[in-house]
Amino acid sequence: MSGQMKLVVVGSVALDSVKTPFGQVSEALGGSATYFSTAASYHAQTGVVAVVGEDFPEDHLEFLRSRPVDTTGLNRVSGKTFRWQGEYGAHLDEARTLETHLNVFEHFHPRIPDSYRSARIVFLANIHPDLQLEVLEQTQAPEFVAMDTMNLWIDSQRDTVIQVMKKVHLVTINEGEARQLIQEHNLVKVAREILKMGPRVLIIKQGGYGALLFTKETIFSAPAYPLETVMDPTGAGDSFAGGFMGHLARTGDLSPANFRKAAIVGSVMASFCVEAFSLDRFRTLNGDEIS
Ligand code: AMP
Repeated sequence: MSGQMKLVVVGSVALDSVKTPFGQVSEALGGSATYFSTAASYHAQTGVVAVVGEDFPEDHLEFLRSRPVDTTGLNRVSGKTFRWQGEYGAHLDEARTLETHLNVFEHFHPRIPDSYRSARIVFLANIHPDLQLEVLEQTQAPEFVAMDTMNLWIDSQRDTVIQVMKKVHLVTINEGEARQLIQEHNLVKVAREILKMGPRVLIIKQGGYGALLFTKETIFSAPAYPLETVMDPTGAGDSFAGGFMGHLARTGDLSPANFRKAAIVGSVMASFCVEAFSLDRFRTLNGDEIS
């Protein structure tokens, strides 16, 4: 099977306040679906399903549309946009969440626009797992579904997170969150347990150390691109996933060999993301730099 496939993502569109040893931003553009769709847009047609409040700056919508990201499924409703506040220590390894305000996501029920329904590839970016399930219920047997999640949902909605994992082909998760989910330190054992839940591919993200791609029979390691300047790791995981899924959608090739190429594309997209705060690096990034 080949040919370009449309990619659909559900996740957060956010205003992020982030502090790293190299600076800080307040209420900057962020969100799992934002990073994902922006990174994916360099590789494939990508549509977002999410919600923002009345306070969401029009400029941010224009930025997404200029990529271009299809925002037909991005609703604006009364209330405040989702907000996340986090900080990183000297090694930039893990975000410490200081505040999460779900705001408009509290009463949100995602609806996939008719123009997205034929999407063959779906990414359930980090968001409440109930919303991930609601999106899956509306899709028409997509060829390939992947998901991400985070410590907050593993702590508070573990059973639902596992329910989503059972329905997808690929899980992407941070190494710390993978260990938290399985209650085991050894990543090979962790991977075996997650693969037993249902997905046929698992990506464990290791920040600056890259990502491990597991199937039942194979392990592949994709390094992180070595960088001299790392300003803000926020969104690296979503940008990795955007590059990965964007490559799959562009090539229409779901073979194991192409997953390994997709992991390299993912690493490249993540490396650009971390060079600046928020999505700023993507404001100037072009296809030649990616190549
Ligand atoms: P990452 O650094 O790739 O893990 O993702 C960072 C993005 O996740 C930030 O832009 C946040 O807005 C978003 N985020 C943080 N917490 C949540 C949450 N509970 N639900 C959805 N998105 C979140």
